[in-house]
Amino acid sequence: MSRKKVIIIGAGIAGLSAGCYLQMNGYETEIFELHGSPGGLCTGWRRQGYTFDGCIHWLCGSSPKNELHTIWEELHAIDEKNIVNHEIFIHTELEKGKSFSVYTNVDKLQEEMLKNAPEDKELIEEFIDAINLCKKFDIPVLKPQNLFTLFHNMKFLFKDFPLVKLLNKWMKVSIGEFQKKFKSPLLNKNFCKLFGMYEEMPILALVYTLALFDINSAGYPIGGSIEFIKSIKNRYLSLGGKINYNSKVEKILISNNSAKGVRLNSGKEAYSDLVISAADGHYTLYNMLDDKFIDEDIEGYYKSFKTFPSLLQVSLGVDRLFKGIPDAVTYNFNFSAPIYIDNKNTISSLGLVIYNFDPTMAPKGKTSITTFIEADYNYWTELRNSDLEKYKAEKERIAEEVIDRIDKLFGEVKSKVEVYDVATPYTYKNHTNNWKGSFEGWIPTIDNLDKTLKKTLPGLKDFYMIGQWVQPGGGLPTGGMHGRHIAQQICKEDRRRFKTLR
Ligand SMILES: Cc1cc2nc3c(=O)[nH]c(=O)nc-3n(C[C@H](O)[C@H](O)[C@H](O)COP(=O)(O)OP(=O)(O)OC[C@H]3O[C@@H](n4cnc5c(N)ncnc54)[C@H](O)[C@@H]3O)c2cc1C
Repeated sequence: MSRKKVIIIGAGIAGLSAGCYLQMNGYETEIFELHGSPGGLCTGWRRQGYTFDGCIHWLCGSSPKNELHTIWEELHAIDEKNIVNHEIFIHTELEKGKSFSVYTNVDKLQEEMLKNAPEDKELIEEFIDAINLCKKFDIPVLKPQNLFTLFHNMKFLFKDFPLVKLLNKWMKVSIGEFQKKFKSPLLNKNFCKLFGMYEEMPILALVYTLALFDINSAGYPIGGSIEFIKSIKNRYLSLGGKINYNSKVEKILISNNSAKGVRLNSGKEAYSDLVISAADGHYTLYNMLDDKFIDEDIEGYYKSFKTFPSLLQVSLGVDRLFKGIPDAVTYNFNFSAPIYIDNKNTISSLGLVIYNFDPTMAPKGKTSITTFIEADYNYWTELRNSDLEKYKAEKERIAEEVIDRIDKLFGEVKSKVEVYDVATPYTYKNHTNNWKGSFEGWIPTIDNLDKTLKKTLPGLKDFYMIGQWVQPGGGLPTGGMHGRHIAQQICKEDRRRFKTLR
């Protein structure tokens, strides 16, 4: 083999996955990670015996019913015995004692929708039919499309094409447009919010997620993000990989239009035959590579496509249990006194993750709660850099207001809060270097779904980009998949037979 040594930038899910699959195929890999621990956005932190999770709400491919599960198996990422499948995806408390639940079971969901919007029977049935149809369709993820053989293409054509054709129409309608079709005021005004989606997204994204929930393949792994990433990191180390923490890559070294290594912020240089960036896309293109390898497609993305926003996460450790509440991934409620977040965001509802389903997240008899609020990246970064005292005071104020609204909802919360913590868009940027503090890269829309970026750059050899900035929608599955795909592509280029280990 001519190419042997690979440098990977970033120890998020994409970087770790690439490292595992390349190690399985005899490459010698080394990861450089800016932070002091692995995971990137897939993270959590511990405070006074409580764990505050910053990522996994649901994990696609949590059961063997999907191909994606094979990737989690190969990465030793999850233990099937420790997956929680919730009865409800999102539960929302409405006015006058009413509520709306997005059940994970499709039949129950249909019943709930019909109960709340009988006038929309036809549209609801069409929606439910699409979910049921999607259940039959397992997206092929074990190979990148450019490596599909004739056999794969024929299989796809005969087995899945009829479904693809039918689902095609659901790819061309945004969730916002779909919402407008409802006659019932509840769904016509709130469909996006009740189903926890962005209105620009294609309705297919929601339909596919709900199909996975129905077949119990979008569960929550006990231990959350910390344990999930720890398992993959251990897998990587056991395969012989090496991680350098607190090592920010500043430049990619190039000679004769080939990537030859990296220079760190310490000035140290490291050399390799190949470089993979699994780090933030904007920083990779515009800083590490000094804008030199950007074509029209890439520029178009960074100029015009929308990114997932940045967030403010408030986490609480509460000395009590929350019994008798619905078994939901997220519990939404509204309140009359709005909370000012920043110059672009004021909220009058919150979505809580109440971890009464994971005993590892809090000491016995106690509960961890998290909530994620959309926040303006520029505001919070400027505030942190210009006035640290006000930044701290604002975090404190928002935490107090959030606790107050939760207290008003359940009673007996304020007096029981033992610890709380607030992460802002500045925290996201500082810990993961993600552009504009985005929590998941590009929002998939009907305009960009067929415009996936390439993993290579024009004019640069021996260099690849993977992770959430290369594929709209991001998420953990993208990272896991990209690691496998890039190893397959590199093996093919080096004329090696790709193999995996269990
Ligand atoms: C609140 C929240 C909830 C989420 N919920 C879910 C969920 O339920 N299910 C799901 O599938 N996904 C979820 N996601 C999305 C998911 O976490 C991300 O899409 C995914 O983790 C991105 O992985 P990545 O490896 O592509 O990028 P990242 O996680 O950003 O990893 C990139 C890594 O590169 C490092 N890095 C950056 N720049 C440099 C540099 N210059 N030098 C060295 N290292 C560098 C970073 O520190 C980081 O470790 C959620 C995210 C958030 C924030």
